[in-house]
Amino acid sequence: MMNIPDSKNPRVVIIGGGFAGVSLAKKLKNKNFQVVLLDKHNYHNFQPLMYQVATGGLEAGSIAYPIRKLVQDHQETFFRIALVERIDTENKKVVTDIGTIYYDYLVIATGSTNNYFGNEEIEKNSMVMKTIPEALSIRSLILENFELALQTNDMEERKALMNFVIVGAGPTGVELAGALAEMKKAVLPKDYPDLDVSMMEINLVQGADHVLDAMSKRSSKAAEKYLKQLGVSIHLKTIVTGYNNKTVTTKGGVSFQSQAVIWSAGVKGAPVKGLEDATDRASRLRVNSFNQVEGFDDVFALGDVAAMYGEKYQFGHPMMAQPAIQQGELLAENLARFANKQSMKKFVYNDKGSMATIGRNKAVVDLPNFHFNGVFAWFVWMFVHLISLIGFKNKALVFWSWTYNYFVFDRESRVIIRPYRKNRDNQKSGND
Ligand SMILES: Cc1cc2nc3c(=O)[nH]c(=O)nc-3n(C[C@H](O)[C@H](O)[C@H](O)COP(=O)(O)OP(=O)(O)OC[C@H]3O[C@@H](n4cnc5c(N)ncnc54)[C@H](O)[C@@H]3O)c2cc1C
Repeated sequence: MMNIPDSKNPRVVIIGGGFAGVSLAKKLKNKNFQVVLLDKHNYHNFQPLMYQVATGGLEAGSIAYPIRKLVQDHQETFFRIALVERIDTENKKVVTDIGTIYYDYLVIATGSTNNYFGNEEIEKNSMVMKTIPEALSIRSLILENFELALQTNDMEERKALMNFVIVGAGPTGVELAGALAEMKKAVLPKDYPDLDVSMMEINLVQGADHVLDAMSKRSSKAAEKYLKQLGVSIHLKTIVTGYNNKTVTTKGGVSFQSQAVIWSAGVKGAPVKGLEDATDRASRLRVNSFNQVEGFDDVFALGDVAAMYGEKYQFGHPMMAQPAIQQGELLAENLARFANKQSMKKFVYNDKGSMATIGRNKAVVDLPNFHFNGVFAWFVWMFVHLISLIGFKNKALVFWSWTYNYFVFDRESRVIIRPYRKNRDNQKSGND
């Protein structure tokens, strides 16, 4: 049904056109394989800049890249928009919403999904930011809340509409909090002169005793200082227990009245059905050092969905772009070796460091042996993100938006293109 022709070459089916799937597909270009790349979207999403889409700093199109364009000059590479429903390893087939496809080698690169730790109330009522449509929903919600705040004279209601609670102070939570604080300072007072924008609160709630807990102590401290300078209220050692669409409750008894709760407190693997025996507690697929899924020679997993346990990475590599890219690149080489009955190379993660930005001139960078923060770190952050974007057009668009926003103190994309109907009275949330 997918109309993929037969080939004399072995077929590699890759599920997922994210960092891992795309890096593998690129490296398999014009090799002796037929490559079938499946993704439920027709674009590759540059997640590290998604918070800027959510806060009006960038247009969605500047962080999305058409997958077809990525593989258009590859011989024997076929892309299909398909949601994979399950895999059948016994019959070597992948079942999708547009039909079934058989494989010689299967690569699962489906990434991760949000982890609510079983809390259905939070899952139902909070916003998340894993996909571009979700980032656009957050953008609409921010702006809609301000429009509603203008319309009410009920001060409690107005405060709740202007109270943004971000749960989880990892890079996503910290970057989003910083960007919201910058909107409060430079953009919203100009747009809403008849509203007291100083009533806007940004509450960043974190279970651990410091922010950015995967980064160095120095970076964590610096990020905390920057956030406070920007007026973000940080609540450490505070575990959120519920959100009923009006009130956020926590273990320590602190509560927040809010009409905008963003959940960035947990992720877990997003494996497809059919490999339950190889799935670990974090919903990741256990793989060996060649990325082969436990129990299989011909099924591989890469990136966020893969858990390669090792001495240094007891629970698998960090769910970040670099492990995904590096695993994808090595697997291209290993598939060729495997097909030629040569021994495969073990994956060794080359940790290039991590970074986060908190706002204009404020970023923290952890290199393997060196940590720094401040203006220079911010330029490094911008440079690294700019060169990592796929495609000249996206690089140019982002560079232009950043330059414009820097000099004009603006976030030009604050438009409600796709209204978001928030569940304010226990009705269903969604997009119009
Ligand atoms: C908001 C945010 C900010 C981030 N910031 C950073 C950062 O600054 N630095 C960093 O290193 N990392 C960052 N990350 C993490 C980084 O984006 C991930 O680690 C990386 O994307 C993992 O790559 P992947 O290929 O494993 O998965 P992904 O890039 O998530 O790709 C998975 C792909 O699989 C597709 N897919 C999933 N399930 C199915 C299915 N059933 N059928 C068909 N297709 C499917 C998805 O559509 C997607 O295209 C961030 C993540 C988020 C959400």
